[in-house]
Amino acid sequence: MQGMEQVPMEAVDLLAMSSVFRESLNERRQRLEGAIAHSGGDLEFTNLLDQVDAALAKLDNGTYGKCEECGDYLETDSLLADPLVRVCIDELSALKSVRWKAISNLPQRFSVHFFPE
Ligand SMILES: [Zn+2]
Repeated sequence: MQGMEQVPMEAVDLLAMSSVFRESLNERRQRLEGAIAHSGGDLEFTNLLDQVDAALAKLDNGTYGKCEECGDYLETDSLLADPLVRVCIDELSALKSVRWKAISNLPQRFSVHFFPE
């Protein structure tokens, strides 16, 4: 149709599957709420619940499934494997290699200067 913005295939996929993600997120949300209640507010569960809520909020405002770093659409497969994924594979591997490089750049042995008294 003329004048219509070209919608990328990934966006069409995501839209079609948004109810699947919403359902699975809501289901995890209920489990987490139960787990938090039973554990007396376990921090790990609370943190996960925050992530689930953030994902649900994104589904509501239409930003779900986009990389938080570069804005590209995430692979539907990665989202299906983990609906809480927030950055694309590129970012994840970049992050890993940065971390790896940071470790490689550490001195072989820490001298006392690293731990001033
Ligand atoms: Zn990205």
